[in-house]
Amino acid sequence: MKNIINYIIVNNLGDIQLNKTFKELTTLKIGGKIELVFLPNSIHSFLKFYDYAKDLNIPIFILGSGSNVLASDEKYLGIVVSFNNLDIKYFFVQNVVTVYAGYKVAKLVSDMARHNLGGIEFLFGIPGTMGGVVAMNAGAYGKQISDILIGAVCLDRAGSIKYYTNKELQFGYRSSLVRIKDLIVLWAIIKLENKSKDIINKETKELIVKRKTTQPLNTRNAGCAFKNPKGYYAWSLIDGVGMRGAQIGEAKISKKHPNFFINERNAKAEDMLKLLKLTRNKVLEKYNINLIYEWVLLNFHENLLM
Ligand SMILES: Cc1cc2nc3c(=O)[nH]c(=O)nc-3n(C[C@H](O)[C@H](O)[C@H](O)COP(=O)(O)OP(=O)(O)OC[C@H]3O[C@@H](n4cnc5c(N)ncnc54)[C@H](O)[C@@H]3O)c2cc1C
Repeated sequence: MKNIINYIIVNNLGDIQLNKTFKELTTLKIGGKIELVFLPNSIHSFLKFYDYAKDLNIPIFILGSGSNVLASDEKYLGIVVSFNNLDIKYFFVQNVVTVYAGYKVAKLVSDMARHNLGGIEFLFGIPGTMGGVVAMNAGAYGKQISDILIGAVCLDRAGSIKYYTNKELQFGYRSSLVRIKDLIVLWAIIKLENKSKDIINKETKELIVKRKTTQPLNTRNAGCAFKNPKGYYAWSLIDGVGMRGAQIGEAKISKKHPNFFINERNAKAEDMLKLLKLTRNKVLEKYNINLIYEWVLLNFHENLLM
């Protein structure tokens, strides 16, 4: 690890942070120390870093806003890369926008509205970055990023850069080739539509009101914990097994929206995982439906996830 740190410093590739925690870097506010956090100052710097680091057998995890991640309380022995400090955010030509991985999509909605460009209002309440949104194929209210994405430039773990078309990214419900192949999204190209900023602002305001009435937004959470099984709502199944409001330690299922699992104050990752597993087991027992995690569970021992 010392070699990498030296390499980053000597080549002025970006900022490094030692002993940061996932608790600080995720919206759930849970998770242990991280050996090294690297914030590249440009895509070029990241590629230079990756070229050096890729063969050193050190795990490298790409973190966006940490709004869909539950990390264990164990120390992460690897490098977490955050694209939050890139020197470039986005640029657009007419209604085609190239957005870099670390840019927050909610901010993009407001920025684009000022230019009377819309069609991405559904992203407004999603606290993720463009990289995370593409990886998760995030969406809301019947729309997802794959509906407006033309393509994305990604780095594979062997170090090759390629432009992937929408089709090549094999989007599914909250899934994509990015997750399957562990690709690293560098930037994405999306198509917007001409729309008056007044209409966009009105619609985003309505969406936020809708979210506030149905989701526990002022809590420490990471969005929906489970994907909706085909033909069902996960929240309804969780409710059906009597888990609404259930609690283990300081990990709790929201009473307002039972697919939101909340950190009440200082929940342990282990308690949150126990609550998730208990819920899955109950749903399996009663409905014979296997709930699949929407959350990304990171740095847990394999046997704990069973
Ligand atoms: C209050 C709240 C509301 C939410 N509402 C919604 C919603 O309506 N719809 C929805 O779909 N989600 C929702 N979410 C979940 C979350 O915001 C989305 O999944 C979002 O896409 C995650 O983006 P992120 O940048 O935070 O990614 P992270 O949580 O940091 O990471 C998620 C995954 O993406 C990967 N990733 C991140 N950046 C990159 C990159 N550049 N290249 C490759 N992989 C990358 C990570 O490695 C990880 O596997 C909500 C979350 C919260 C807290």
